Formats: sequence, structure tokens, C-alpha cells
Amino acid sequence: MSLTGTYDDANIFAKILRGELPCIKAFEDEVALAFMDIFPQGRGHTLVIPKGAQARNLLDFPAEMFGPYLERVQRVARAVTAALEPDGFQILQFNGAPAGQTVFHLHFHIIPRWDSVALAGHGHARRADDAELQDIARAIAAAM
Ligand code: AMP
Repeated sequence: MSLTGTYDDANIFAKILRGELPCIKAFEDEVALAFMDIFPQGRGHTLVIPKGAQARNLLDFPAEMFGPYLERVQRVARAVTAALEPDGFQILQFNGAPAGQTVFHLHFHIIPRWDSVALAGHGHARRADDAELQDIARAIAAAM
């Protein structure tokens, strides 16, 4: 079952939170960590993951933690839009494998959108260049 089940402590984002895997960080505090998606669907594709809860998806997350977490999602979205000046942005969030979820630690995607620029499909994007992602992460961090 991908929608229900036990939280797997060995998922990629748990490892990133523990510092066992690297990430290209844009923001971090005691509530959340934001970093660049290394397979971005578009320029500036950023992930925001919560700390302090073993939540596979939206259903598992303690209700009282949504306020602080979503406030960080909004703050990061403001910084992404200030840094990259897109024409719009999307917030995406997938629950369960059939819905497109591939990493089973709750996360929100922030994806800037520009007029007439198509996105790569979810799960079909190419691996981005780390130096490019680092430049974007620095710009987002500076706008926080
Ligand atoms: P989802 O498919 O909604 O679970 O989103 C997981 C996202 O994590 C995908 O967009 C992947 O491209 C992204 N991803 C996978 N591994 C990493 C990683 N090591 N660092 C950053 N992003 C990753």
C-alpha cells in the first residue's frame, strides 16, 4: 500500500533531513527544509518538507503542524517568486503512488511558471546541473 502504511525511515527525504544525503538548500529552520528538486519539471522547482513528523503524506501529518508548515511553504513561494519573477507558480502535492508520489515523506512542490513555457512531466524530467541549481537556491535564499 502506498497511501497507508508505516513510515520508512530510509526514504530519501528522511536521509536528507538527517544529513546523510546532500541537498541544494534554499531555506531551513526548525519547522521545514526547502531544497531544489534535482529533476526539476521547470526552472526553480523547489521542494518544501516538514521536520518533526514521520508523515508519509497529507493524511498522516498532525493537524496542529499544518499552520507552521504551510506558513513556510508560503514564505518559500514568496522568495521563489521574488527571486525568479515568474508569471505564475504551481503548488503540487501527491499522495500515494497512483497519484504520482515517489518519495514517501510529505512534501509540497513549488513550480514557477512562465508564459508559453511547458513543464516536463512529473517523473519525466532530466537531472539538472548542480551549479545551475545552486545559483537558483542562492537567489531564493537571498530573497527569504
Ligand atoms: P513526488 O513524486 O511528489 O514524491 O516528489 C518527489 C520529488 O523528489 C520528485 O520531483 C523528484 O524529482 C525529487 N527528488 C528525488 N530525489 C531527489 C533528491 N535526492 N534531491 C532532490 N529532489 C529529489
